[in-house]
Amino acid sequence: MLEIKNLHARIAEDGTEIIRGLNLTVKAGEVAAIMGPNGSGKSTLSYILSGREDYEVTEGDILYNGESILELDPAERAAKGIFLAFQYPVEIPGVATMQFLKVAMNEQRKARGEAELTTPDFIRLVKEAAAELKINPDMLKRPLNVGFSGGEKKRAEILQMALLAPQLCILDETDSGLDIDALKIVADGVNALKSPDRATIVITHYQRLLDYIVPDTVHVLYKGQIIKTGDKSLALDLEANGYADIIGEAA
Ligand code: ADP
Ligand code: MG
Ligand code: MG
Repeated sequence: MLEIKNLHARIAEDGTEIIRGLNLTVKAGEVAAIMGPNGSGKSTLSYILSGREDYEVTEGDILYNGESILELDPAERAAKGIFLAFQYPVEIPGVATMQFLKVAMNEQRKARGEAELTTPDFIRLVKEAAAELKINPDMLKRPLNVGFSGGEKKRAEILQMALLAPQLCILDETDSGLDIDALKIVADGVNALKSPDRATIVITHYQRLLDYIVPDTVHVLYKGQIIKTGDKSLALDLEANGYADIIGEAA
C-alpha cells in the first residue's frame, strides 16, 4: 500500500534536511509501528505523508497503491484515503466539532462522487462513533479542540478517523498526554478499524501503546532514516534496553 523509497526531505523555509534516505514499506492489513528518540523526524515524516507544504522532497518517492503522491496536495491525499491524527491537534475556534465533522465527511463523499449525507444519517453516524469512543455528546457542540483536555483532543482525532474510515491511518504519538483509561479507549477505536484492506502506522516514543495496538512490524527511525526493522519484540527490546545499542549498531 505504501512504499517510501530513498526519501530525502527538508524544511522549505531554511533548507535543513530532516529525512535523509528513508525506506519503508507498509502492506495492506498491516499495523506498522515507528519508534525513535525525540527529534528523529517521526512527526516530520507524518507531515510529509499528509502533504504539508512546509517541507520539500528533494529525492526519492512515496508510492501509495503504486502511484506517486508527491504532486498531490493534502486534500487530494485525504480524498485518496490518507489520514493523519496529529501529535498536537489544532484548535479551530468558531467551528463546532459537529460542523467540522460534517464538512470533512461531505468533502470526502464529494471527492468520491457520492451524495451528501442527510442530517439524520450524519447525526446517527456521529452519535454511534462518539459513543464507542466514550465521547460526551456535549463536547461535539464545542469548537474543535478549543479547551479540550489532551485526552479529549486525541479522542476527537480518532472520532474523525472512525468517521472517515481512511485506507492509510497515521497516528502520531496518539498516546502522549493520555491516561491509561483513555489510552485503552483510543486503542480500541484504532483496533476496531483494523481490516485487511487498511494499513495503520503508529508513531510512538514509548512501548506502552503497543501493548494495546499490537504491531506486525516495528521500525526504528533515527536521524531521518529507518535504522532497524523487526517484529513486536523489537519494541519490547527498546523498552528494556533503550535506543543506544541499535544506534551504535547502525553507526
Ligand atoms: P520527532 O517527531 O521524531 O520528535 P520531529 O519530526 O518533530 O521529530 O523533528 C525532527 C527534527 O526536525 C527536530 O530536530 C526538529 O527540531 C526539526 N524540525 C522539524 N520541523 C521543523 C521546522 N518546521 N522548523 C525547524 N525545525 C524543524
Ligand atoms: Mg518529538
Ligand atoms: Mg513528533
